[in-house]
Amino acid sequence: MRPPAGTSVLRFRSEWFLPRSGMEGLLRRWRGFPGILLANCPLPQHPLCRPYHHPPGRVKRLVLSRFFQPQNLREDQVVGLESRSAELTCKSQRLMLQTGLIHPAGPGCYHYLPYTIRAMEKLVRVIDQEMQAIGGQKLDMPTLSSAELWRATGRWNLMGRELFRLQDRHNKEYCLGPTHEEAITCLVASQKTLSYKQLPYLLYQVTRKFRDEPRPRFGLLRGREFYMKDMYTFDCSSEAAHQTYELVCDAYGRVFNRLGLQFVRVQAAVGSIGGTISHEFQLPLNIGEDVLAICSNCSFTANVEKLDPKQPNCPVCQGKLTETKGVEVGHTFYLGTKYSSVFNAEFVNAQGKPALVEMGCYGLGVTRILAAAIEGLSTEECIRWPGLLAPYQVCLIPPKKGSKEEMAIELMETLYDDITEALPQLQGEVLIDDRTHLTIGNRLKDANKLGYPFVVIAGKRALEQPRHFEVWCQSTDEVVFLPKQGVIDLLHKIQVV
Ligand SMILES: [Zn+2]
Repeated sequence: MRPPAGTSVLRFRSEWFLPRSGMEGLLRRWRGFPGILLANCPLPQHPLCRPYHHPPGRVKRLVLSRFFQPQNLREDQVVGLESRSAELTCKSQRLMLQTGLIHPAGPGCYHYLPYTIRAMEKLVRVIDQEMQAIGGQKLDMPTLSSAELWRATGRWNLMGRELFRLQDRHNKEYCLGPTHEEAITCLVASQKTLSYKQLPYLLYQVTRKFRDEPRPRFGLLRGREFYMKDMYTFDCSSEAAHQTYELVCDAYGRVFNRLGLQFVRVQAAVGSIGGTISHEFQLPLNIGEDVLAICSNCSFTANVEKLDPKQPNCPVCQGKLTETKGVEVGHTFYLGTKYSSVFNAEFVNAQGKPALVEMGCYGLGVTRILAAAIEGLSTEECIRWPGLLAPYQVCLIPPKKGSKEEMAIELMETLYDDITEALPQLQGEVLIDDRTHLTIGNRLKDANKLGYPFVVIAGKRALEQPRHFEVWCQSTDEVVFLPKQGVIDLLHKIQVV
């Protein structure tokens, strides 16, 4: 396994992006703030202050019956889903609705429910690790983006009806940011003493973005609100900026490799972002809205939008092109000085002269990657996750109450404690399906549908000597019977992020 990024010692470096201003005042304000520590809470019965009711030293067991997860899993509970079936347009959307991962809120808008948030947080950790491994620094820009910024680059008109526009009480105009080239360039331009020694800067954020899609569909694949990672890079020369461009593209490749997702990087049109070089990262999926041309002879791949329709062969080697559908999950642009020249984003070069920074911008669709991964890996009936992103890694299923094996319910609780004690990395990753009024078979069906990578069952053989648990490895479709230590050894291999 790759060592996690960020394990090396960080030293304060002059190239850290630290705008000089305001920090002193902020610290002063915090010192004057009355204590908000929970220990000082005057209400000992306040729910936040009440100690957890579980034995000291033990981690509280996660039980499925307490989860906020609207369950449409049981066939007798599929009420309401039928009536919406006309809107269900692809597998990932249908499965995510059925299993309570998302809940519709309006056209192209969804509530992301707890399982989805866990998977998304894991995805963001993978992205953070890979971005920070190449020197990325994370920040967070406002969603409210002023019209002045967008007018400066001409995009207030160019973006047309895709922008969600609004006005404040002073009639000042804003949009809900779909992308942040203007905002970040303006921010960097405000740093008046930037030296070539500090560059490159690789600044990024993971935030909610907005786009007024004419036809939102496919669930999280094409929504009007979505999460995106957007990175903007600032270099002191065109050559350096091209190197940074390749560095970020390679990091994107590592993100998809770690998730086990097959991707293609294709030449793309620059569209409304502009610039001169652009690539898309596409997951080949047959519901995709993009058509990709792949050369059977060399490594040439391109979005067909980019190709001359009169020229049917590969422009590099004249080989035959085959077409496949894809879902765009990442997009990179080499921008040059398109934005820095508008906002006068300058640095002082080695000759002591001011010069414009050379920029690139790079997007990864966070919620789209999640949905596309589910689309690509799942069967028609069951969700399958990239192993690293599974919301929970292990589901334990104790026997049904009142069954011959009822005694094994307690064995399962002990197994839970033993797993999380022996493998502390799995704390928070193991849950018990405590709906013991249901048969093991029914709960196994649900677990299979939700796609926990490992499902452990305490059935008849858990009461025999020696005791054996039944373990379902969902990614390989294998079922094995193992004693307790064997279960722990098997789960030891799980990678978590
Ligand atoms: Zn070719």
